[in-house]
Amino acid sequence: MKSLIFSLLFISFSGSLYTQSFNNNNLKHYSNIADEIITSSLNDTVGYNLARYLCKNIGSRLSGSENSLKAIKWAEKTLIDMNPDTVWLQPVMVPRWIRGNVEKAVLLNNNLEKTLNVAALGRSIATPEEGINAGVIEVNSFEELIERKNEAKGKIVFFNYRFKNSFVETFNGYGDAVKFRVDGPIEASKAGAAAVITRSITTKYDNVPHVGTIRTFPDSVKEIPAAAIGLIDAEFLSKSLKENPGLTINLKLSARNLKEVLSYNVIAEIKGTEKPDEIIVVGSHFDSWDKGEGAHDDGAPSVQVMEVIDIFKRLNIKPKRTIRCVLFINEENGLRGALKYAEYIDSLKENNIAAIESDRGAFTPRGFTVEADSSVISKMQKWIPVLEKSLIDWVKPGHGGADIGQIKNAKALIGFVPDAQRYFDVHHSDNDVFEEINAREMELGSAAIAILAYLISEEGL
Ligand SMILES: [Zn+2]
Repeated sequence: MKSLIFSLLFISFSGSLYTQSFNNNNLKHYSNIADEIITSSLNDTVGYNLARYLCKNIGSRLSGSENSLKAIKWAEKTLIDMNPDTVWLQPVMVPRWIRGNVEKAVLLNNNLEKTLNVAALGRSIATPEEGINAGVIEVNSFEELIERKNEAKGKIVFFNYRFKNSFVETFNGYGDAVKFRVDGPIEASKAGAAAVITRSITTKYDNVPHVGTIRTFPDSVKEIPAAAIGLIDAEFLSKSLKENPGLTINLKLSARNLKEVLSYNVIAEIKGTEKPDEIIVVGSHFDSWDKGEGAHDDGAPSVQVMEVIDIFKRLNIKPKRTIRCVLFINEENGLRGALKYAEYIDSLKENNIAAIESDRGAFTPRGFTVEADSSVISKMQKWIPVLEKSLIDWVKPGHGGADIGQIKNAKALIGFVPDAQRYFDVHHSDNDVFEEINAREMELGSAAIAILAYLISEEGL
């Protein structure tokens, strides 16, 4: 009888906990766990040390490259050493593009010959071996390109659109300018251009080209080569064109698109103790461009989501729901990894209740943007007293992420948002190296993601 009363009491107590959601008792408990997570992240710097290895011993990881496979093997082994319940590789075919050895632009202006700092854009084809010798037309919008279509014929179109530094949120500046890199080559080809040179999309005034993908040419449009140019040389070229509109450039690129090759997503999970079928994804893309070391994009963020697994294991936190780390391959030039993962969970009718993506660099945490019903977002906002320990100030509606965006029926797709003032200084360029990562900033990010994953695992959505 006594025991029956006790169980009835217990049932009603746990029931009320569930419905009240986030009363003072669990707030205190969650705060303690968050403190433990943050202390361990900042003291042990496990993720920072792994990021060093990934950047310095392996380096950049363009989809389909040997280096990307080396990195995948390393991630698999590293995750196995963390001792979660499962680690596996999910096979997926990915496009293979190579830069080749030659990328050179020589400006011929009367008697002056000057080499400009350029780099082929992802998916670009090669020029003929002797290069493309052509005049140059500078344009600053697609409207201007259409207006001056007759002048563009046979020329190199130079998109010199400047990054708007007045945007406080640099991602808005990127969003504003990126169309010239992505769609510029197709639009220029439609106007009869021979090639494209695009001003790098960056917040840093130096001469380092920032690369990235271009859109695949439709069959109806002739493919033409495309390169990015460093900002100092973009200014020089613009000034030279004003002085001598008849100058020419010899552009040589040896980039090539090869046959698709086999690659992998890396997946690791800790099974939930109470609701193992409800899965919380922490994801990041593991490929990078072939410039620099892919440190902020997206090496360190990939290591952050790997570190979430390690944090749960090393602190012996047993989540009620399953925590699954997914390193997606091929976000930069195809999204094949994300599509394969989405297809896989669809085929098994898995319930991925939430997914958190880290793909905005490994800087100081600021907030989380969430694609979800407003009731879900309100619920998450109640967790800010716990999240703010890792410097998360806000949870608000917004974009989740490119990779997790493929997951259907999740209750919440969540983007981790760190400070972005320095991200486009390094993005897709030789500037994106390990030395640009600050251990404390990165580790607070790992902690923020781990705390949010933990809260979802305990409270559901
Ligand atoms: Zn990225």
